[in-house]
Amino acid sequence: MNKSFLAMTAVSMVFSAALLSTGCRSVPMTDRSQLMLTSSAYENRLGAESYAEYKKQFRQSSNAEYNAALARVGAAVKAAAPENDFEWEFVVFDSATQNAFCLPGGKVAVYSGLIDRMNNEAELACVVSHEVAHAIARHSGERMSWSQLRTLGAIGLDLGLDNNAVNEIYGTGTEIGVMLPFSRSNEAEADQIGQLLMARAGYDPRASIQFWTRFSEGKSASTLGALLSTHPCDADRIAALNASLPTAAAVYNHAAVRRGFGTVFTR
Ligand SMILES: [Zn+2]
Repeated sequence: MNKSFLAMTAVSMVFSAALLSTGCRSVPMTDRSQLMLTSSAYENRLGAESYAEYKKQFRQSSNAEYNAALARVGAAVKAAAPENDFEWEFVVFDSATQNAFCLPGGKVAVYSGLIDRMNNEAELACVVSHEVAHAIARHSGERMSWSQLRTLGAIGLDLGLDNNAVNEIYGTGTEIGVMLPFSRSNEAEADQIGQLLMARAGYDPRASIQFWTRFSEGKSASTLGALLSTHPCDADRIAALNASLPTAAAVYNHAAVRRGFGTVFTR
């Protein structure tokens, strides 16, 4: 038995033990089994740190209508969300950027430029629920986990070959708080969870189709929303939202409070 074989065996044993003990999680509301090697406490801390940086960079919007709408949507979505360890915060940033996000731990921001593109509160609920769905499904933690797995796998292969390579592989930064596009499957899952979440929160889920259809149409290179660069929207996505609508509509019909499309924004 040579040294590299022993090293690889040791790495794979540590690996398997880690995967068996903490490596899997079931995504709330979809029950998909996902790889999870990070802790939610760690993700939430990174999320809070990143949120603090955003709040230094952007002013809170002074638009009373937008702030009140996000406060209502935030309270409703928070109440409808599955059990979590979040310390929720919701803010409207004063910026023409058409974007929104929810960092791990329930740190939500919607840019006023995006609300300018919305007709009503239910469309805001659609976007907030979609972003919150990414956090509930811990898509950032999942991405970090795959990144760690690839790193560990590469170390396993490099042991016994060239130890300098190990040093090069280490030091890959975390990917939380960086607005990287999620994978197509993460997007589809966030749409599915988000549509159910907005329905549970008492908003008419048809607003999800109305918003994404209108937002993705009529765009030009110069007005392409930042939201679309991280959340590509195409015919497949709209078709999937239409396919899941009956389920979401049934949830909406049983919601404790039904708000319809909520407040219509005045402009
Ligand atoms: Zn998304």
